[in-house]
Amino acid sequence: MKVKSFVFLILALLLIISLPLLYACDSGSETPDLSSDDQSTEPDSTEALETSSETTEVETTEETEYGTIINEGNASHEHTLTQQIIAPTCITEGYTLNSCECGFQTKSDLIGLVDHTLAQKTVDPTCTEYGGILEYCTVCTYSEMIEYSIEPYEHAPKLTVLEATCEEPERTITECTRCDHIETVITAPALGHEYVAPEGIALLPSAKNPEISYVSVCRCGDEIKTELSYSDVFSGAYVDTTDVVAKGLDISMWQFAQNTKGEYIDLDWQAIKDSGIDYVILKIGSSNGKDPVFEMSYAGAKAAGLDVGCYFYSYATSVEGISAEADFLLTLLEGKQFEYPVYLDFEDPSQEALANDVRTEMIIEFLSKIQENGYYGALYAGQYWLHNYFDTARINSLFDVWMAKYKYGSQEWNSDTWDPTYTYVGTGAYGMWQFTSTATVLENGVTVESVGIASPSVDKNYCYKDYPTLIKSLGYNGFEKPADNDTESI
Ligand SMILES: [Zn+2]
Ligand SMILES: [Zn+2]
Ligand SMILES: [Zn+2]
Ligand SMILES: [Zn+2]
Repeated sequence: MKVKSFVFLILALLLIISLPLLYACDSGSETPDLSSDDQSTEPDSTEALETSSETTEVETTEETEYGTIINEGNASHEHTLTQQIIAPTCITEGYTLNSCECGFQTKSDLIGLVDHTLAQKTVDPTCTEYGGILEYCTVCTYSEMIEYSIEPYEHAPKLTVLEATCEEPERTITECTRCDHIETVITAPALGHEYVAPEGIALLPSAKNPEISYVSVCRCGDEIKTELSYSDVFSGAYVDTTDVVAKGLDISMWQFAQNTKGEYIDLDWQAIKDSGIDYVILKIGSSNGKDPVFEMSYAGAKAAGLDVGCYFYSYATSVEGISAEADFLLTLLEGKQFEYPVYLDFEDPSQEALANDVRTEMIIEFLSKIQENGYYGALYAGQYWLHNYFDTARINSLFDVWMAKYKYGSQEWNSDTWDPTYTYVGTGAYGMWQFTSTATVLENGVTVESVGIASPSVDKNYCYKDYPTLIKSLGYNGFEKPADNDTESI
């Protein structure tokens, strides 16, 4: 009995011990499922699948007393395990690997992660970031800069300048030869188109050359065609209104007093302006030279806000002679701006003996030269001359005229009164009318003496045309032509 009991006990113990091992080895095998009661979640056969749909997952690892199974092996026997310690790293845990020669393996006695295996190396800077010492792990990808001690490089720039064109600005491109840094900076504005007109041709219409057409070319190849007609600029003697738009004086050295040294004493231009005078027509000179008070008068009148025109007194007695006078006048005009026309004063007694045709040609020659050079050339003459000494119709059709007439029949206009009802009574209204040469009072009772005019009297004029607006819009007389013009690209 004792022996039998002992043998039974041994058998029973063996059975208990072998249960998990038997089970562990037979997953998927033909070995009967000895633990079916507690392992209902481990269906193992087609029969289980056919008879039950309660479970759908199949676990891939299983804890046993030997640890976690990592390989089922292929034999159904009592495993004989050998142990091997797998050391941990910084990224994988260590463990004891239990292996049977059948291939069965488990993993047990996990060992936690260990620290990184650190090493250091010097890292070069870049153009924008510090270099220094990098600590890194030789096992994993961990790394960290522990010292920023090497200053960044500066960019190694390579400059490329794209030159400005008519429409594109100059761009300087800075590329780094070390990194991919690139920077574009506008370093000069676009050039803008510059149309150059052909040399040696008249660019502005004149009485002699009334239709102008030419093509100007830009450096970029763009072209514009300019077509100008004399009638677009100059409208002839007559104006279609008798409404006075401005009141003016004409001034020469005769209006100036002199001191004991013979120097001219300037006028009180501000007082002239304040009296209600809108403009002055200054004598600029003659073939004898520049009028000695012209520069002083021009500066004073401009400073006071008066609009300014000028006149040139002609002594010429031939077309060649008056052409030379025009050349001289052009030198006097340089650098000045005139809101009113540049007048040819044609009334010298030496010219009375000439033929009408010659006088007419002389006027056309002189004013055409002035006009072609960008000045609003016009004619000053007395009414008698206008009617008797020229080809009147031709002159009147070609030029703005400033006409002098002081009497109508025996009636002389009141020289001291600005009367807006005054209208030249004759063949038409001229651009400007000089209606008296004997005024002693300006506007509003201001006397000529009170503004420094030494001569007992002064000329007074009515203007019927808005010359300042016209001349500025044309870009004549030293003014810059406004951007909006009549030219068109072709
Ligand atoms: Zn085994
Ligand atoms: Zn590591
Ligand atoms: Zn760089
Ligand atoms: Zn261009």
